Amino acid sequence: MNFHVITIFPEICKAYTDASVLGRAQKTNKGKGAKVRGKKISVSYYNPRDFVKDKHKKVDDKPYGGGPGMVMKAEPILKAWQKAVGRKKDQKKVKTLIMSPRGKEFTSSLAKQYANNYDHLVLISGRYEGIDSRVKQVLKAEEVSMGDYVLTGGELPALGIIDAVSRQVPGVLGTNESLEDKRVSSGEMYTRPEVIDYKKKKLRVPTVFREGNHAEIERRRRRNK
Ligand code: SAH
Repeated sequence: MNFHVITIFPEICKAYTDASVLGRAQKTNKGKGAKVRGKKISVSYYNPRDFVKDKHKKVDDKPYGGGPGMVMKAEPILKAWQKAVGRKKDQKKVKTLIMSPRGKEFTSSLAKQYANNYDHLVLISGRYEGIDSRVKQVLKAEEVSMGDYVLTGGELPALGIIDAVSRQVPGVLGTNESLEDKRVSSGEMYTRPEVIDYKKKKLRVPTVFREGNHAEIERRRRRNK
């Protein structure tokens, strides 16, 4: 899966996508034991500022029809999109998403759909009041929301989507990091030490977990699910 992020803050996002699981997934895995070899994902960044000619690198302007704030200009974003995926032959494998608090709410099921059906995901991240509507129109993009609240920018939603979709790409999660649907997950979990002294109380790991009685743990997890 190849992610293409259009944002005026690439450095914020890159710090996240280069770390941990996502960072590893972008490197070639030559290990013999690796189930899926090679790079599992790629993440590229495109800054709309790099696609404007004027010396102030202006990517926003006042809204037509009045109102507060500024609107992101369409052309720098369209040029960035063109550079990212405009020349891809199979455009059916390209999906373009615009981050918007008014969009369809992003869910686990959408993450799976994107991972299964596309090779390129373009994530357009807004700032200010939002993005000139012609971007959505021309690119036939889908608006997606991270949740029912308004953020100052689309960077966090874009990262959330990259993260959730990447987990669905074969080989991204190691054997120790399993997908939710392959294990019974109740959220109840413990690690060492066995006893924690906290404000004069002793917090112990429940016996079933300590004894490693898997059938019993499984039952308990199902009960608490
Ligand atoms: N005044 C605008 C909100 C602008 S928020 C309105 O009423 O629609 C600025 C940018 O942050 C948006 O363009 C979008 O890209 C991003 N953003 C904010 N909240 C978001 C959310 N919940 N989900 C996805 N993107 C969001």
